[in-house]
Amino acid sequence: MIEKVIHRLKSELPATVKLVAVSKFHPFESIEEAYRAGQRIFAESRPQELASKVRALEARRIELDDPGYMSDIEWHFIGHLQTNKLKLVLPYVSLVQSVDSVRLLDAMDSWGRTSGCVVNVLLEPHVAAEDTKQGFEAEEVKSILQAASRGEYKNIRFKGIMGMATFTDDENVIRSDFASLLRIYEDSLSEFPSVSADFQELSIGMSDDYSIAVEYGSTMVRIGSMIFGLRKI
Ligand SMILES: *Cc1c(COP(=O)(O)O)cnc(C)c1O
Repeated sequence: MIEKVIHRLKSELPATVKLVAVSKFHPFESIEEAYRAGQRIFAESRPQELASKVRALEARRIELDDPGYMSDIEWHFIGHLQTNKLKLVLPYVSLVQSVDSVRLLDAMDSWGRTSGCVVNVLLEPHVAAEDTKQGFEAEEVKSILQAASRGEYKNIRFKGIMGMATFTDDENVIRSDFASLLRIYEDSLSEFPSVSADFQELSIGMSDDYSIAVEYGSTMVRIGSMIFGLRKI
């Protein structure tokens, strides 16, 4: 089942769109199954759950006496991240997609400075109708990229924009949300040429709306329930 869906998605998605398998609420065994089907990028939304899956993989390597087992797996983080949880997440992920506040960005920058590494991030603007304090206004994205262009955030690499459409059946609302995210992404590219070499990702689209997202320039779709079914753990 998992294998079938992954193969279907990969044949259906344009070559420019990366498939991110959202494995939250699903056991490590499901990740292995997806990996065997050729999937390499997985995303988690809770720090503890990510850390426990990384530990499950390490345990499997010991069990199999194979240190290289699944060594090319790539983890992304897509959930709300509190600044006191950075050490559970940042050592393991190649991309934090869900940077939704300046406070978090500042904390990640200093974590990177202390650890001697650069943290790859997507900025998450808030465009959906749901009332939430998380996520940036379009103007905040600009001021962050302005600061980066001035040489601030030396330990952050800005890789693009991540976003979610309003949770609704109304396709017009979804289209308008994706159009807003695309506009923020394109404005960022054109206004901040010094960051644009790295700024290549527009992560939009989930199980229910990924084909619409592809129409609006998605480079990365985040698909969970369609691949793994409904939540298990
Ligand atoms: C859970 C989640 C997804 C995947 O959603 P599905 O509808 O299960 O495909 C994508 N993005 C984020 C940020 C999520 O939290």
